Amino acid sequence: MRTTRVFFTIAATCMAAVLPANAALKVVGTTGEYSALASQIGGARVSVTTIAKPTEDPHFVDARPSQIVALNRADVLIEGGAELEVGWLPPLLDGSRNPKIAAGAPGRIVASQGIQLLDIPLAADRSQGDTHVAGNPHFMLDPLNAKIVAEHIARVFSALDPAGASLYRTNASAFEAALDAKMKQWTAALAPFNGRQIVTYHPTWRYFGRRFGLKADTFLEPKPGIPPSPPHLAKVMQKMQAENIRVLLVEPYQPRKTAEAVVARTGGVLVDVAQFPGALPGTPTYLDLIDTVVKRVAQALAAK
Ligand SMILES: [Zn+2]
Repeated sequence: MRTTRVFFTIAATCMAAVLPANAALKVVGTTGEYSALASQIGGARVSVTTIAKPTEDPHFVDARPSQIVALNRADVLIEGGAELEVGWLPPLLDGSRNPKIAAGAPGRIVASQGIQLLDIPLAADRSQGDTHVAGNPHFMLDPLNAKIVAEHIARVFSALDPAGASLYRTNASAFEAALDAKMKQWTAALAPFNGRQIVTYHPTWRYFGRRFGLKADTFLEPKPGIPPSPPHLAKVMQKMQAENIRVLLVEPYQPRKTAEAVVARTGGVLVDVAQFPGALPGTPTYLDLIDTVVKRVAQALAAK
């Protein structure tokens, strides 16, 4: 049984590797939300590969030789920018030797261009391992930013593949209309909790919180990318108890034991969330992902 499954997995992988030859554009997304948008906008005209696994920390992605091959063949690379991929993308790009996706080339999409970033530090300080020195790179968790990025992707696809321009335009508009409809539901679902505080492991949910009226600015990490120290955790738990903050968000790659210990001590609720489509069950698309996160957070905030 297991052998059969492995065989089918290998067959499916080989097919996926063969299919791109027919695609008008071969696209690589650094993380899954960019790939999800590229598939939605490109439809059957594009083939899409993703470098990071949906359950992987986007600041620290394990490089594999297959990723260099995908980058070597790519017509388009979509990255978040704002130094999200600074620790792992440059060596992969060097290895790929592909001028089509070099910095500044028409095939290079930097999603953060045109986005107003939060948390831009007054002075960049990498000395302690801070991973947000160019501002907070988790802007795709504000759905209105996803619309800006969708437009950016549609523009670049159309310029590189004019024969597909009307399809890309139609698909981008359909995505934005679906997002607008969902936005009304999400806003209504979280409206009863306007102004409530939540705690998160890493400052991943700042844009999400701002969009939906939640204060997501208490973190288990003392600085982005720096593991929690016992004195810092003690301070956070004290704040949670003093201000009756009960909801703690944790992502697949973050140390769950630490988060569990915090909610056990403070009587809080732990909520499993993720930034990338596919990391939670039933979330193949970007809208599915946000939908699931909104439902889980609303349910936790409603819990007595
Ligand atoms: Zn981060």
